[in-house]
Amino acid sequence: MRLILLGPPGAGKGTQAVSVAKEFSIPHISTGDIFRLNIKQGTQLGLKAKSILDSGLLVPDDLVVEIVEDRLKQEDCKNGFLLDGFPRTIVQAKSLDTILNNSNISLNFAINIQVDKSILVERAVGRRICKECGATYHVLFKPSKNPDSCELCGGELYQRPDDNEKTVSKRIEVYLRETAPLIEYYKSSGVLATIDGQKPIDMVLEEIFKLLRKDKV
Ligand code: ADP
Ligand code: AMP
Repeated sequence: MRLILLGPPGAGKGTQAVSVAKEFSIPHISTGDIFRLNIKQGTQLGLKAKSILDSGLLVPDDLVVEIVEDRLKQEDCKNGFLLDGFPRTIVQAKSLDTILNNSNISLNFAINIQVDKSILVERAVGRRICKECGATYHVLFKPSKNPDSCELCGGELYQRPDDNEKTVSKRIEVYLRETAPLIEYYKSSGVLATIDGQKPIDMVLEEIFKLLRKDKV
């Protein structure tokens, strides 16, 4: 199964990606997570990316494409993959097409998680992430059973520096300008599937599973 998840910041891509990747035994590749790991480790890439992520802008296309191309060459992608947060521009989408064409493979679906703009800020600002295992919570919609720590591993929960109201608004603006045109792009290539992301987390997942199981039979 080869999938990409599309949707604005806070739509629920990362949340759904964890369950979908587990169900279909495919790697969950989040370009945002790759940048945050590099920032944490203080690598050259992390140093370049930090101010870009903090401002809510996009990392240059050539840099992101190179990272994804290398990642897709790894052994665990042989049976498929789930890309979360990539592609984010038409240039990235075309580069992905070239990478896949060169290996004679194609996408099964580009799943667009649709959420009204009015609830995105609340979703992103309330997001909390475990420092140890990366599990995602929400202060209102998916609170951890333990106050301030991860219910899975006990790790400390933190708020992403770009999950403040000002930067989230910027990220939404960037999404509408740079990423939303991908909906039409994937519609034209016949792989677009749209999912209502405003329902509760379990119901959104059920809709995605319905779509993907239909493709399996
Ligand atoms: P994205 O990866 O698209 O930026 P996330 O999956 O990290 O979004 O979700 C953003 C926040 O919204 C998280 O705190 C998450 O727990 C919460 N969330 C995700 N899906 C839903 C949903 N269907 N209903 C309510 N809250 C949700
Ligand atoms: P995310 O974790 O998907 O919300 O991404 C966080 C930030 O990482 C974005 O606001 C961008 O600065 C950067 N980023 C992640 N994926 C990409 C991408 N495909 N292209 C450019 N920048 C990206």
